[in-house]
Amino acid sequence: MRSIPFGKPILGKPEHEAVAAVLDSGMLVHGEQIKRFEADLASFTGAPYAVGVASCTAALHLAYFHYRIGAGAEVIVPAMTHTATAHAVELSGAKPIFVDATLPSGNIDVDAVRAAVTPATKAISVVHYLGAPADMKALVEIARQHDLKLIEDCARAIGAYIDDVHVGLWGDLGCFSFYPVKHMTTAEGGAAITRHESLSAGFHLERAFGVDRHVGERAIPGVYDVVALGFNYRMSEIEAALGVQQLKRLPGFLETRAKHHARMWAGLKDIDEVQVLEGTTPNARSSHYCHSVLLDDRLAGKRPEIIAAMKAQGVGTSVYYPHPVPGMRYYRDKYALSEDQFPNAKRIANQTIALPVGPHLDEEDVDYVVAALKQAIIQEKSS
Ligand SMILES: *Cc1c(COP(=O)(O)O)cnc(C)c1O
Repeated sequence: MRSIPFGKPILGKPEHEAVAAVLDSGMLVHGEQIKRFEADLASFTGAPYAVGVASCTAALHLAYFHYRIGAGAEVIVPAMTHTATAHAVELSGAKPIFVDATLPSGNIDVDAVRAAVTPATKAISVVHYLGAPADMKALVEIARQHDLKLIEDCARAIGAYIDDVHVGLWGDLGCFSFYPVKHMTTAEGGAAITRHESLSAGFHLERAFGVDRHVGERAIPGVYDVVALGFNYRMSEIEAALGVQQLKRLPGFLETRAKHHARMWAGLKDIDEVQVLEGTTPNARSSHYCHSVLLDDRLAGKRPEIIAAMKAQGVGTSVYYPHPVPGMRYYRDKYALSEDQFPNAKRIANQTIALPVGPHLDEEDVDYVVAALKQAIIQEKSS
């Protein structure tokens, strides 16, 4: 039987050698690898500036910190996203105002965003759901009209574009994650890209205590000044070295994902019991994180059994995301929210199954995943 995990990082000799070279150098932070990684990421995305940080969550948090968006402010946040998108707002002291998703894209409902703007709104946070770009042109327009910051969570959207402009460059900044199951990995790690020189300069200070000179830039070792408030949200040389190597492989990873995505889609279209989620933004190119299929209402209650039946056939699946964020207990309790206020996000949370399309699969694996889903549905319909 095949064994197909949902996600698996692809690491080889180049990554081993790059990490070993960093260890041998003794320069574990503040070295050449982070500079090279930032330059390579800027080049890949076409961004004027890229800043490596500890995680996507750190990048998002730094954004609100940098803009001094905090207590008394409201930030519009998608209900259907990773909890980090909302946590970054919550950590800043601002209040997240959740907005439902639309179907079939899973992306934020732009009309609902418009309706959620109040005099206290300071920013809109948007996620490109599973790599399918949200409608950035409409969101940029709303942000302009109300003078709001626009923060893009691109954690699963590296290699996604609208009109050949990489996501993350439509708003004020885009935040990436290099956690192991994302398109490329640095183990832990993240980055921000931006068109704003001031934001890039601010992030460089604020990711490292607000210190004005790092090791190597100091006339007298150990002597520096602190010119801003900041965190320790740095990316290490080991992580950056992994990132440099993974970025070289990224075009290949993305090409394979796109091929697998298309091949799987052709198979999924024959299954009457599921609707395949798909992006709807014109002129957009997805980064094809995975396929997510919405089970029809009759089968929805059987999702655990269908997932188990696929697992029994060796197919790993996932769910993005298991609850609308406002339905997660922390937010539900704090703000007296209910999942029922976000019906589309609730349907996605309760009725979808995410299927792997990553470069760890081959074409036969792709066909096998589709066959396993068909088999699982037949089995559950007859049980
Ligand atoms: C994975 C993910 C994050 C968190 O990324 P970290 O690098 O682990 O902080 C944030 N937002 C989205 C949409 C994600 O998928």
